[in-house]
Amino acid sequence: MTRIVYVNGRYVPYSQAAVHVEDRGFQFADSIYEVCEVRSGRLVDEERHMARLKRSLGELQISQPMSEKALGHVMREVVKRNRVRNGLVYLQVSRGAAPREFLFPGDDVLPTVVCLARPGSPAAIDARAEVGIAIKSTPDIRWQRCDIKTVMLLPACLAKEEAHKDGAREVWFVDPDGYVTEGGSSNAWIVDGDGTVITRQLGADILPGVTRATLLDAIGEAKVRLSERPFLLTEAYAAREAFITSATQTVMPVVRIDGRAIGDGKPGPVAQSLRQKFHHFATISSA
Ligand code: PMP
Repeated sequence: MTRIVYVNGRYVPYSQAAVHVEDRGFQFADSIYEVCEVRSGRLVDEERHMARLKRSLGELQISQPMSEKALGHVMREVVKRNRVRNGLVYLQVSRGAAPREFLFPGDDVLPTVVCLARPGSPAAIDARAEVGIAIKSTPDIRWQRCDIKTVMLLPACLAKEEAHKDGAREVWFVDPDGYVTEGGSSNAWIVDGDGTVITRQLGADILPGVTRATLLDAIGEAKVRLSERPFLLTEAYAAREAFITSATQTVMPVVRIDGRAIGDGKPGPVAQSLRQKFHHFATISSA
């Protein structure tokens, strides 16, 4: 089956999907994106993803390329045309293409919109969650507006590449004071000796994860103790459990950080139970 990609108003075969060489996403990373989980052909937490997309556009003063409803239609259409049952849908909006110039182009330059969908294997992700993943820590060298979901992902690419060489699947960025900010493409969580779940509070230094927000609903309902505060990397080493959250993995247990076993070195009960509950709290939109 030929994969189909949405580019600026057209549904085109993957091999022909292209944007302009002077797109500002390409030249300046002047572009934002969303990744939404697709589950049984439906979008998970679409409203929260749309709200974050709108906020990212607003923070960068990129005009909304079309209504939320129309964007939702594009995402569904791409999912359908690619017959994705389980996987992800990726939506990117850049400021558009214009002769290279730092200043924003005029209003006549329209944003570039790209949407693609990709199948994934829930069984493979579940199998990974059964054993848990390893993390490598690294200094947070990113910029000071990590709350905006831009495609400026080079620090994460470099860090993940290094982590991969060490057999770690994700990185945890650490601020100059030794506190974990977040993962390369996920939010970071620990469970302390008292069973309190700890994750950094929202701010300019982390992405407001959609999975994080939905998990906070689940935690509230489960009456699990919660503390939204920064935690030290050394606290994480000594934690009873650790895990990460992201749209494509939901809750993924962490069993090693920098080669040290976390807890007993196996996925912990809090992470496993929150993973099981997650989709009961997420909003699953109509197809
Ligand atoms: N932090 C960063 C830096 C990310 O790239 C992601 C994934 N997009 C997340 C957190 C998790 O966000 P979400 O739960 O919305 O996927």
